[in-house]
Amino acid sequence: MNAAEKRQQIEALLRAGHSDLAIHRHTGAARDTVARHRKRLCLPGYQTTADSPACRHGHPFPENLGRNEKGHLVCLECRRQRERARYQPAEPDEIAIERAVAGDPPESLTPRERHAAIHQLDRRDYSAAVIAERVRCTPRTVHRARSQLRAAA
Ligand SMILES: [Zn+2]
Repeated sequence: MNAAEKRQQIEALLRAGHSDLAIHRHTGAARDTVARHRKRLCLPGYQTTADSPACRHGHPFPENLGRNEKGHLVCLECRRQRERARYQPAEPDEIAIERAVAGDPPESLTPRERHAAIHQLDRRDYSAAVIAERVRCTPRTVHRARSQLRAAA
């Protein structure tokens, strides 16, 4: 590989969002060289620093810049996204579904619970109006859930 090819490889890896260290390990180029190319291409630093205009995912600083528990600078938007990705919806309440099916619906059902109740009532051939009353939703919601169930079956 000649010098021009190596430079192209470093540029491609930089544009793909890899860190200076990763590119140094992959290509064998000195980290200073990689950093020089990064600066020449006007790419933001891999690490979040107050000097770069955005994090490596493009979230603008400083509105998204904060400090974590250890006092290190972090991109708050990236952290929020990680937390959202980790969020698990609550398991459906089987008793709430049973109550809705039996005609004694609780005050509120989650969308998943409502869907499960509609499914069970639909198998018992209740009309959309009756189902809507039992799960406390509009007949339109019942029709939509039904067509989804038909499509899935
Ligand atoms: Zn970010």
